[in-house]
Amino acid sequence: MTNDGWVKIREDLRKRVGKDNYVTWIEPLKLSKLDDGVASFAVPTTFFGDWVKRNFAEHILNHLLTSGAAVDRVEFALERNAPTKSVKPSEAAPRKRPSDDKDVPGAPLDARFTFDSFVVGKPNELAHAAARRVAEGGPVTFNPLFLYGGVGLGKTHLMHAIAHELQTRQPELRVLYLSAEQFMYRFVQALRERQVMDFKELFRSVDVLMVDDVQFIAGKDSTQEEFFHTFNALVDQNKQIVISADRAPGEIKGLEERIKSRLQCGLVVDLHPTDYELRLGILQQKAEFYHTQYRDLKIASGVLEFLAHRISTNVRVLEGALTRLFAFASLVGREITLDLTQDCLADILRASDRKVTIEEIQRKVAEHYNIRLSDMIGPKRVRTIARPRQIAMYLSKQLTSRSLPDIGRRFGGRDHTTIMHGVKKIEELMTADSQLSDDLQMLKRLLQG
Ligand code: ADP
Ligand code: MG
Repeated sequence: MTNDGWVKIREDLRKRVGKDNYVTWIEPLKLSKLDDGVASFAVPTTFFGDWVKRNFAEHILNHLLTSGAAVDRVEFALERNAPTKSVKPSEAAPRKRPSDDKDVPGAPLDARFTFDSFVVGKPNELAHAAARRVAEGGPVTFNPLFLYGGVGLGKTHLMHAIAHELQTRQPELRVLYLSAEQFMYRFVQALRERQVMDFKELFRSVDVLMVDDVQFIAGKDSTQEEFFHTFNALVDQNKQIVISADRAPGEIKGLEERIKSRLQCGLVVDLHPTDYELRLGILQQKAEFYHTQYRDLKIASGVLEFLAHRISTNVRVLEGALTRLFAFASLVGREITLDLTQDCLADILRASDRKVTIEEIQRKVAEHYNIRLSDMIGPKRVRTIARPRQIAMYLSKQLTSRSLPDIGRRFGGRDHTTIMHGVKKIEELMTADSQLSDDLQMLKRLLQG
């Protein structure tokens, strides 16, 4: 492939990374050689090369691959004759734009992560509403907006959606989105190159700062210090800040107290684990999208419901499953049925079978029957306590892979025959007692999420 070939391919990257990133980071790349599976690009400065490598290497590689190029790695090397001295970020960007250069180099925004493509359900409605409010760009009412939640629940998606929306509504705003890791990386770079003043100036000149996965800077003292000052400077200027993390501010170990309390000053909202309805909604939306791509693929009714029920981990896994399913079905040219789904996704389905612990079972059952957790393992034999205990034994046998002696040990060192008796008792009662069987159904559902 020649540089001309590359020029064609890179056009596609424009859609992927957005116009600004494209002009700043992709267009200046020159393909210098393609040799032995390595595509080498000439870059004007070391900083430029590092930045592109960190943020775009994967996209570039993917696009080369889809165009059929024989590559398995991309490399960025200094252009020959280029000055070897490092250049500060603002100089690294080619000076193509007018002098009132409003762009601040952030991480690329994923064009798919918009409000339109975000499915709202009970677990995320608050986070979504707060993100919407910030995206309106009106007067700053809470600062920062702190979004937290487990992996794959949509934090990054919401942050990108805010950035897209703000950029559409108010193109003149300087919106900077980046991960905490990138923040650190750039800070360290600035220290090394003795350009901390430029760094400070850059970060203090934005209108909206969004830092993703802030837990990353926990324990990294000088980065925290700098983050704290940046944060305060922006808040003082009444600039909006949006932060995300995998847990609540107070629970991030290794984060300075003053930062924690600063982070808690604004609006802290969490994204709850997805529920069945939200998962189904997301699947339906994605399936609709796939239908536009694979027009003649049929999907049997019940398949999406099955997936929403069985894959209760994060949304990323759910999406991956659907992508694989559609790709597979289109390859073999078959309708997506439940059978095909189970074959195609066997590994994912197995991995997402939720592991329930005996302790969780005891806790849930005790809660449900309003007895003490200690009575689960204690000696009391009155029916109001013994029956729930037997139910917990039964569920432990059903929902975990523990042996009877093992279960016995966790019920206050009871003998395995006692456990067996308990399990049998519940099995007997279940057939006649519909209240009990309803209870069991519900407890199972609660425990398996
Ligand atoms: P996080 O940053 O919380 O780990 P992401 O924002 O990266 O999670 O989300 C993981 C994937 O799941 C992304 O592809 C995102 O588009 C998708 N996703 C998560 N929540 C939703 C939602 N409510 N609606 C649509 N897609 C979602
Ligand atoms: Mg994320």
